[in-house]
Amino acid sequence: MKLVYSDHYDLHLGNHVFPSTKYRLIKEKLLQEKVIQPEQLVEPAPATDDDVALVHDADYIWKLRHGKLSSVEVLRMEVPYSAELVQAVWLSAGGSILAGRLALEEGLGVNIGGGFHHAFPDHGEGFCVLNDVAIAIRRLQKDGLIERAMTVDCDVHQGNGTAAIFGGDETVYTISIHQENNYPYPKPPSNLDVNLHNGVQDTEYLTILEDTLDEALAEFHPQLIFYLAGADPYREDQLGGIKLTLQGLEHRDRIVFEKTRAKGIPVAVTFAGGYARHVADTVRIHSNTVKAAAEFAASVPGPAPQ
Ligand SMILES: [Zn+2]
Repeated sequence: MKLVYSDHYDLHLGNHVFPSTKYRLIKEKLLQEKVIQPEQLVEPAPATDDDVALVHDADYIWKLRHGKLSSVEVLRMEVPYSAELVQAVWLSAGGSILAGRLALEEGLGVNIGGGFHHAFPDHGEGFCVLNDVAIAIRRLQKDGLIERAMTVDCDVHQGNGTAAIFGGDETVYTISIHQENNYPYPKPPSNLDVNLHNGVQDTEYLTILEDTLDEALAEFHPQLIFYLAGADPYREDQLGGIKLTLQGLEHRDRIVFEKTRAKGIPVAVTFAGGYARHVADTVRIHSNTVKAAAEFAASVPGPAPQ
């Protein structure tokens, strides 16, 4: 299994509820614990502006490139604008494109980053500037590598940008399992939205997840799934209000991998949010997702010999 990572994924947010150093901390933890070896890490190329334009409006791209966003637009992103931010989000989009390609080649690809599901074609919001998963899907479709894709968004916040981008597009099926009484408002409809009540715990959540995946995969047959493995459904999250334990989150990841393996569908993993009171918990949750992915990858048959 290969893992897509760049030291420049750091959004350089400083003292912010979004711990943007998490990508580096996750990579270091995975190496330290020997879950991965250094040679498994691959560096992404940034998405090209043509790739980004498959999803985002030319005017918005130009403003990002030239530092011309209005103060209102920057406030809406909820992250400070900087050259490092621009570099990070273009790289993250390139990383998700690469993770998607790796998934198609090897059954599974992991971007140690990405999942910026609140970004819309014409604006960023909720810490999300470019919708890397949407860009990756559009690029892979353009390259003729896939026709149909699915997003399985398990971040605690609804995937509003992704839902809006793919609304009415029969080639992409969007699933979002999220807390109803939480940002964003409004929530543009996904193909399948699961609105969870406050305080949902492991058993109920995991049953709902299994049922949701069964229902969606009976209805739609994707050639690739992007899994947004948000760490913020965790009970100690500062921006979430549902109550999964660390074990519950590990179980969640395994359900996603097992259900998709049963159908033979490649999976590209991205991380999305995570705002635990202790950053170490966020790092652990994301690292556990990679561990589960590694176990899954080890059990996936490789391409048939020629
Ligand atoms: Zn979130």
